[in-house]
Amino acid sequence: MPRIYLDYNATTPVDPSVLKEVCSILKNYPGNPSSVYEEGRSARILIEDSRQFIRSFLGANQKDGIIFTSSGSESINLALIGTVNFYRRQNKKSIPHIITTAVEHPAVLNAFKFLENSGVETTYIRINNSGELMLDELLLSIKKNTILVSVMGANNETGTIFPIRRIFEQVKKINENIIAHSDLVQFIGKVDFSLKDFPLDMLSFSGHKFYAPKGAGVLYFKKGLHLDPIIHGGHQERGLRAGTENTAGIAGMAKALEIFEKNKEQELKKISSYGSMFFDMLFSSLEGIRLNGHPVNRLKNTINISIDGVKSETLLFNLDLCGISASAGSACNAGKFVKSHVLEAHGYDRSRIESSIRFSIGRWTTEADIEYAVNAIKKTTLKLRSMT
Ligand code: PLP
Repeated sequence: MPRIYLDYNATTPVDPSVLKEVCSILKNYPGNPSSVYEEGRSARILIEDSRQFIRSFLGANQKDGIIFTSSGSESINLALIGTVNFYRRQNKKSIPHIITTAVEHPAVLNAFKFLENSGVETTYIRINNSGELMLDELLLSIKKNTILVSVMGANNETGTIFPIRRIFEQVKKINENIIAHSDLVQFIGKVDFSLKDFPLDMLSFSGHKFYAPKGAGVLYFKKGLHLDPIIHGGHQERGLRAGTENTAGIAGMAKALEIFEKNKEQELKKISSYGSMFFDMLFSSLEGIRLNGHPVNRLKNTINISIDGVKSETLLFNLDLCGISASAGSACNAGKFVKSHVLEAHGYDRSRIESSIRFSIGRWTTEADIEYAVNAIKKTTLKLRSMT
């Protein structure tokens, strides 16, 4: 039976051209990029070329920081904890206040909890039941000691896109010194992005969400910003991230962005059209389904629905038997049912949350995959409903 992968928000398969490049680098560039002899120097060139490419991809300035990490989670932890730790070293008597949203990925929320436990003041901004951020609440929560606001670009579970440009413009109007960070893990490689359009001071993203191998992430920060390292050791990455760089992973990530850049018009058009087709087919073939998250401002590849009368874990199990991979809640919760904090923040009732399922399409999704999946979802749902 063929497998139909509909969980591109969890991770993406590696693009064949990226794979080829990564394998060749693993074979031909064995050196430690910090070594001064030829093998080290050539690996260093690959890393610096990748950094340069990513800098221009983002529309960043030459002096801005591009730090390579192991993942989106690490980049986010470095951004948040690194900023707060630096601030505390400089301002020993002041307690910093940081703000985020209630629907962030656990990488942000748990870094916030960690900081909270060490005495930092935190605020979590609510969303309404359409998934829109309560911007007034955010602006009112800004205080004299607020040093950082972190708002994600797009939500991993629902695909809801936050208007981060407007949000951070408003934040900066109140205090331009507040550091604007965004978790762009679900944004980069899915949406056309340039720093020229967004007033961000820091952003984090991860290669495995756009067809690069797992194990490479990026933290961007604007020139002049300071942060403390959270991993201590050697002086790699401007002294901000100790550890021998993952040369192949970093170059693979740059290659994946290059492929996205080259084909983005076509790819975004295809995803948008297949996303709409999937949505229309699902809603016209089944009664009793509800879209979760924002109805319009959402990633076109993501469809999070609740199917009345069906528990998501049972549906997922049955779809897996039909060869379909999907997800309930975020990827790091997959395998065991943990009530989604994102759907809970929408104010949805328990049965809506327990019957929610996320499908996310990507580069290799075909029309036939969508037709097969809708058919399987319909059949499985009708079977499960008839049993209860
Ligand atoms: N932020 C968001 C929105 C995500 O979707 C994810 C991963 O699913 C992360 C952060 C964490 O990224 P990584 O898996 O690279 O640590």
